[in-house]
Amino acid sequence: MKPVAVSSRMRGDFPIFRDPEGRDNGLVYLDNGASAQKPQVVLDAVADFYATAYANIHRGVYRLSEEATRRYEGGRATVANFLNAGSAEQIVFTRGTTEAINLLAATFGQQRVGPGDEILITTLEHHSNIVPWQLLCERTGAQLKIVPIGDNGSLDLTAMGELLTERVKLLSVAHVSNALGTINPLREIIRLAHDCGVPVIVDGAQAIPHLAVDVQALDCDFYVFSGHKIYGPTGIGALYGKREHLEAMPPYQGGGDMIESVTFEKTTYAPVPTRFEAGTPNIAGVVGLAAALDYVSGIGFETIEQHGRELVEYGTRVLGEIPDLRIIGTAEPKVPVFSFVIDGIHPHDAGTILSESNVAIRAGHHCAQPLMDRLGLPATTRASLGLYNTTADLDALVEAVQNLRKFFGK
Ligand code: PMP
Repeated sequence: MKPVAVSSRMRGDFPIFRDPEGRDNGLVYLDNGASAQKPQVVLDAVADFYATAYANIHRGVYRLSEEATRRYEGGRATVANFLNAGSAEQIVFTRGTTEAINLLAATFGQQRVGPGDEILITTLEHHSNIVPWQLLCERTGAQLKIVPIGDNGSLDLTAMGELLTERVKLLSVAHVSNALGTINPLREIIRLAHDCGVPVIVDGAQAIPHLAVDVQALDCDFYVFSGHKIYGPTGIGALYGKREHLEAMPPYQGGGDMIESVTFEKTTYAPVPTRFEAGTPNIAGVVGLAAALDYVSGIGFETIEQHGRELVEYGTRVLGEIPDLRIIGTAEPKVPVFSFVIDGIHPHDAGTILSESNVAIRAGHHCAQPLMDRLGLPATTRASLGLYNTTADLDALVEAVQNLRKFFGK
C-alpha cells in the first residue's frame, strides 16, 4: 500500500500548505521533529474558545468561567485517554517537555537523590533530558551516569543492566531519539530498571506523534510530551505520573490555584494535579492540544504507524542510493527521521541550499551535542516527517540533495 493517498488527504487539513488562492503551495516541510504544523481543526478550536467561551478557570462562579473550566478539564481527560492513564488527575499540564522534566527534577528528583546517589540517562538524550539532571546533581551532590549506544544508535542494554546498581535513584530516557529517530525498547528498559527498584521517566517528545502510547501497559513512572510536536499549539505539554509518586511530590512553583489554604504562618497545598499548576495556565493551549489529540485519534495509530514504517523503508532506500550520503542512525525500529551527512558538504550549507528548493529541513546538533560527540560528528542534516508527508516529499528531498551535490561539483 502506498502512503501517498492517506497523507495527501491530510495535507489538505493543514492551511500552511495552501497559497492565498487555496492552491497547494508545494512546501516540503521536513522539520516535524522540531515542531509540527497545525491542522485547521486546532486553529478553529482555539479561535472558538477565545470567541465564545473565554474566561479564567476554576475560580469563577459565572457561566463563562464554568464553560472555560469545563473545556480545560475536558482537555485533561482527553490527554488521559490518549495515554491510557488510569485517571485525569494523573495528568499535569506544563509548558512542554522541557518544563515537565525540570518539574520532575525539582520535585521527584530532589526528594530522591542525595550525595553519592546516581541518576541514569543515555547517550542519545536531548539537552532537555540532560541539563535539568546536571543541575540537580550540582544541587545534591549526586552523579550523572550515561548508558552507552552502539554505532548504529541502539542503546546498549547489557551496559544499562550493569549501570543499574543500588546507587541509581532514577532513570530518565527518551522513547524516541530526536536526532536519529531510533525507537528505544521501552518495555525492556522499564522492566530492567524496575527489577532494580529504579523508577523510570520517559521523554516522549518525539514518540508522541508517531506511536500509540499506553502508559499503563508500559508501566513507566512518568511520561512527558509537548503539544507542538503532535500538531497542537506551542507552550503546552503534559506530564503523566503514577498516582503514588504525584501524591508524594512537593509543589514545583508557588502561587494561585495550587493551594488549599494560605496564612502567613502556614500554607497547605491543593491535591494533585492542581498542586503542580500554579498561576493562570495556558487554557487555550489545552483546548488546542485536546483538538490535536482528537484529530490524531481520528486518523488512528494503526494508520499513522503503518505510514511511518512505509516512509522509513522508502526514505532509507532512496537516500541510501545517493553517492557520498551516509544515514546516521540505522537501528530499527525507527520513526521517519533521517539524519544524514554528505561527504564534503557542511550540514548548514546543505540546509540553506535545500531551502531554495522549498524543502525545509534542519541542520545542526539537534540539541544532542553529547550524541554528536559520540558519533564523531559536529552536526547532521535531518529530515523528520509527519502524517502529511508523502513519498513525494522524500522524492523532492532526494532531487534537492542531487542538485546540492551538483552545486558542490559532485
Ligand atoms: N526531548 C526531545 C527528545 C525533543 O526532541 C525535544 C524537542 N526538540 C524536547 C525534549 C524538548 O521539547 P520542548 O522544546 O517542546 O520542551
